[in-house]
Amino acid sequence: MDIKQNICPKCGGPSEEGLCNNCKAESVDWIICDERVQCVHCPTCGSLRHGNTWTDSHLEREELIFNLSMDAVHLHEDVMDVEVSYKYHDPSPNRTSVGVKVNGEIYGVPVESTCRVLIVWSKEQCDRCSRLAGSYYSGTIQLRADGRKPDDFEKERAIQISQKCEDELQEVGERLSFVTKSEETKDGVDIVISSHSIGDFITREIKKQLGGKVTRHPKLIGEKKGRPVYRITYLVRLPRYRKGDVFENRDHYYEVRGYDSNQLWVFDLKEGAGKVYKENDDGRLIGNVSDSESAFVNYIEGDVAGIMDPKTYENLECIIYPWLEIHEGQEVRFLRDYEKERIIFVG
Ligand SMILES: [Zn+2]
Ligand SMILES: [Zn+2]
Repeated sequence: MDIKQNICPKCGGPSEEGLCNNCKAESVDWIICDERVQCVHCPTCGSLRHGNTWTDSHLEREELIFNLSMDAVHLHEDVMDVEVSYKYHDPSPNRTSVGVKVNGEIYGVPVESTCRVLIVWSKEQCDRCSRLAGSYYSGTIQLRADGRKPDDFEKERAIQISQKCEDELQEVGERLSFVTKSEETKDGVDIVISSHSIGDFITREIKKQLGGKVTRHPKLIGEKKGRPVYRITYLVRLPRYRKGDVFENRDHYYEVRGYDSNQLWVFDLKEGAGKVYKENDDGRLIGNVSDSESAFVNYIEGDVAGIMDPKTYENLECIIYPWLEIHEGQEVRFLRDYEKERIIFVG
């Protein structure tokens, strides 16, 4: 049997077909290095710009230098077993010179090359930081309450919610959704926001946690690239009653337990049962269970309890509704209905 031996047309050495591996390796540009790369970063937040797009970067400088250098090195697709090492120094404050050494193998032939990449650093304020600096806004959330003013807890909670929403949106890359500022006003809190999506998100969360109604009031402020630009005022009107409030309506006393998609959940202190409050007339506020007083029960007579008024030390007789289990010598919590001169036991 004849073994067909091919000859490399370039070097005359043995070859399977056409050029031998050595000559093939020599004939391809297996590595191409860009001499210069530019990196635009935001001096305030460290974001990086690629073309017209800014992205958050959490890379350390060293990692960034490595990534930028690797972006500048282009290898032939047949190169295998690549190993890269690099060294760098800063010839000037806005230049980093990186020496890159690449080892690999192509067509079974080991290859090695070094090149130098100059990273040019430039600073530019990113889209987010420039909007932040310019107090950019596309809407305001006004936290108000129905027939009263939001209390400290509600105001604090709303601000916390807005911060949490901002964190979440930033995390998923919605760079331009942020809270520009929040401030207390005489009627509640105003939260100024940079995008409509964060406005929708925050108001949805506030409603979920604090109840109330949200209305949106858009106002046309101009046009950008042929599209109308709106600013939206979100009015969040918290419910008339807060959790723990006790109010009277048609001789029933109700304690507010919570909210569930526009429904008011109450505990009927006369019947001893939880229910959805459906009455149209809103009733009269007595107080909040967090402000309730406590007193000792001196005696029980039928459905009447005699308790000692902790303010005057006088005996007060009050009706015990059937669901209440009250015993002599026990301590009970109550609210005063001054208008009807009644003591209302709370659970
Ligand atoms: Zn050859
Ligand atoms: Zn920035």
